[in-house]
Amino acid sequence: ENSGTDPKNLRVKLVLLGDSGVGKSCIVLRFVRGQFDPTSKVTVGASFLSQTLALEDSTTVKFEIWDTAGQERYAALAPLYYRGAGAAIVVYDITSSESFNKAQYWVKELQKHGSPDMIMALVGNKADLHDNRSVSSQDAQEYAERNTMFSIETSAKTADNINQLFEEIAKRLSRPTP
Ligand code: GDP
Ligand code: MG
Repeated sequence: ENSGTDPKNLRVKLVLLGDSGVGKSCIVLRFVRGQFDPTSKVTVGASFLSQTLALEDSTTVKFEIWDTAGQERYAALAPLYYRGAGAAIVVYDITSSESFNKAQYWVKELQKHGSPDMIMALVGNKADLHDNRSVSSQDAQEYAERNTMFSIETSAKTADNINQLFEEIAKRLSRPTP
């Protein structure tokens, strides 16, 4: 319920970054359409989708989502997508330590070139493949804390933590920490 605060209608540009194949497009499709398509196509350049989320205090947050391609040949375009972004989701695959290294590269890029008050989430996707885990939750969490991000593990396949991820971003946008 509305606890005396004015409900707000917020809008935020959100960018997804991370290695190719970690599940960025599947995370977006799960959030926006509630679907998982195991035959989804490789993103070329970038794609745009939007989705509005309502919080418990009836604040709404409209996410304008830029889902980028992870391929090297598009890396030079990335600044176009994270420029002016209020939030970024940096994704790795929990079964690939190489993708975790790549995520750290993107975090540094955002720290160098992104807006200083950008909300950043570090997302370990494919949590359903925990039997093949090669990045520990603790390492990811410690890295995130050192870099003033929050971390969460998701599965676009099972939908685990997908809504929670966007809700956490929405909450941080609507109630910026001092
Ligand atoms: P992107 O290049 O980061 O956009 O990755 P995609 O979203 O295209 O996904 C790459 C591959 O990983 C596809 O074959 C997906 O079906 C698969 N995938 C994505 N998310 C998950 C997940 O949460 N669990 C599992 N097991 N596979 C996933
Ligand atoms: Mg993609």
